[in-house]
Amino acid sequence: MSKILVFAEFQNGNLKRSSQELVQFAAKTGRPVVALALGTQAGSGAAQLGHHGAQEILLCKDAAYDAYNPELFASAVAEAIQNTGATLVLASASSSGKDLFPRVAAKIGAGVVSDGTEITVSGEDVKVKKPLYSGKCFATAQFENTNTKIVLMRANQLPVAPADTSKTATVTEHAFNKPSLKTLVKEIVKGASEKLDLTEANIVVSGGRGLKEAANFKMLNDLASVLGATVGASRAVVDAGWVGHSMQVGQTGKTVAPSLYIAVGISGAIQHLAGMSGSKVIVAINSDANAPIFQKATYGIVGDAFEIVPKLTEEFKKALTH
Ligand SMILES: Cc1cc2nc3c(=O)[nH]c(=O)nc-3n(C[C@H](O)[C@H](O)[C@H](O)COP(=O)(O)OP(=O)(O)OC[C@H]3O[C@@H](n4cnc5c(N)ncnc54)[C@H](O)[C@@H]3O)c2cc1C
Repeated sequence: MSKILVFAEFQNGNLKRSSQELVQFAAKTGRPVVALALGTQAGSGAAQLGHHGAQEILLCKDAAYDAYNPELFASAVAEAIQNTGATLVLASASSSGKDLFPRVAAKIGAGVVSDGTEITVSGEDVKVKKPLYSGKCFATAQFENTNTKIVLMRANQLPVAPADTSKTATVTEHAFNKPSLKTLVKEIVKGASEKLDLTEANIVVSGGRGLKEAANFKMLNDLASVLGATVGASRAVVDAGWVGHSMQVGQTGKTVAPSLYIAVGISGAIQHLAGMSGSKVIVAINSDANAPIFQKATYGIVGDAFEIVPKLTEEFKKALTH
């Protein structure tokens, strides 16, 4: 059986949840799983790949891979695919994943399907379900006329079991050929928040124009810290300059699929729904009973966010500390 190559992503030396999902899924197919880990963070986090089911880790601890560079990464990943003979490549549909893998596919003549929300692998046959037209419908994609299939999956779509530390992988250190680069990343400026990235978060609390002004996001931060959630926002408040664009959920922001999405003072425009309708449970808090968000919500609370959110925070605090 041919190998599956999983492109691993790390944050602060830890394997991202999206990569854990991919490695565990790959292991369940019964095919041999190789994980590709690049950069100095990968050095400390690589062992986790084994705990999640990879049998082999292709590791390159070179600091040149610490900052994403499209040319450098595309060259290394293409070389890894060719060296391992993998016919299925799994990666996250993160912003760097969506930038990188079309380049890799062009280099090696592979097919690539992005934004997968479901995947089935039966022998060499691979089917991927993905949303189209901002989630208004779904397509099932298959590959033709290619030996190498690249699938980019959205985060939080596949189940993750706890890591099994008794499982380990063989680590092969490898120095990839480096092309002469036409672009160089000089500096990465980190965002203000050290919190978990929205796309990886299990609980998201998002605020919209109904919060009236930037300072009122404090109310959401308080709720989020009790729940261990990450705070998101609608585009209206990002455009108003209340919060940064990295917090925007929707068609022109991030796509999230947490276990719980709490939308506060958000009307539920189609462009916002495009980024969060894959959430498992949606709670909407809105003073307008006819707001479109209620059509998507699992639970709806019609009322004033300024009364409801502090009460919810208090109740969750009591429930979660007892
Ligand atoms: C090409 C394009 C791309 C776009 N991309 C995105 C995107 O990625 N993400 C995105 O979010 N939008 C996007 N938009 C914008 C989108 O169409 C909406 O304008 C935006 O989502 C509205 O944001 P909102 O729900 O915060 O504001 P509003 O639509 O103004 O809704 C505010 C809501 O707050 C409620 N409210 C008011 N006071 C209270 C209160 N005290 N308590 C509770 N509720 C209250 C109101 O009833 C209302 O429903 C895009 C638009 C275009 C054209």
